[in-house]
Amino acid sequence: MTSSAPKEIVLPSSTKGIIDSHAHVVREFFKEEQDEVIQRAFDSGMSHMVNPGVTINDIPELLELQQKHKKISIAVGQHPHDAKDFDATMKDRLQETLDKHDVVAVGECGLDFHYNNSDHASQLSAFREQIKLARQYNKPVIVHCRDAWEEAFQCLTEEGKGEVRGVFHCFTGGPELLPAIEKLGFYVSFSGIVTFSSAKNIQAAAPLVPIDKVLVETDCPFLAPQKVRGKRNEPAYVWFVAEKIAALRNTTLDDIAMHASNNARSLFSLPDAS
Ligand SMILES: [Zn+2]
Ligand SMILES: [Zn+2]
Repeated sequence: MTSSAPKEIVLPSSTKGIIDSHAHVVREFFKEEQDEVIQRAFDSGMSHMVNPGVTINDIPELLELQQKHKKISIAVGQHPHDAKDFDATMKDRLQETLDKHDVVAVGECGLDFHYNNSDHASQLSAFREQIKLARQYNKPVIVHCRDAWEEAFQCLTEEGKGEVRGVFHCFTGGPELLPAIEKLGFYVSFSGIVTFSSAKNIQAAAPLVPIDKVLVETDCPFLAPQKVRGKRNEPAYVWFVAEKIAALRNTTLDDIAMHASNNARSLFSLPDAS
């Protein structure tokens, strides 16, 4: 049982709402607790959350989720881990979903040269195809990037042609990457990793990202923040990420919650909070 025993967990308190810009609240991870976990997020003051897909197989459940919860938005894409399976049929499937449904972004997609679950050539080609889709549909792109920064910048520059907006989700880089990201006009989303004491490089970058480009996320069920480390992560824990960003930037939690929410609404064209 991986129950997160959330009643014993005291979340940082804020008068503002917050947006988890990247969560995977699918049944595969949350089983019969899915509804409860989503409810806990909204009870904690979450005003919206974005659920990206990792393969096209996720699409039916994502559509179902968004239909059920008006404060959940979805993205569709193929993760670099599964890029080797990305073919014309899958691209058609993504296109069909973008045509017919309310999808806020293409992703997650990108390059992961750390795990190398797919060969580099397939990763680069799947990423390029998905950037093209983002451009075609005028949607932002949710980028997963590990140990492939130069290649990712190159793909985005060449295929995005200065027209594609997006976010580097679960940012694992340092300050040296920020000028290139700023040049692309991309957002930077921080996950629970920024709360780990070993994450010095990410912590050094956090205060340097322009405030209008900062997002926060859980990437749940992975990467639970330090205060709940070892537990299954869930969207409500995004508050711990925001708390850490506030400390690193020497500001208040309310300030970060407000900016991160406004930024997510702007990037993903989300409806205003009601
Ligand atoms: Zn990712
Ligand atoms: Zn993810």
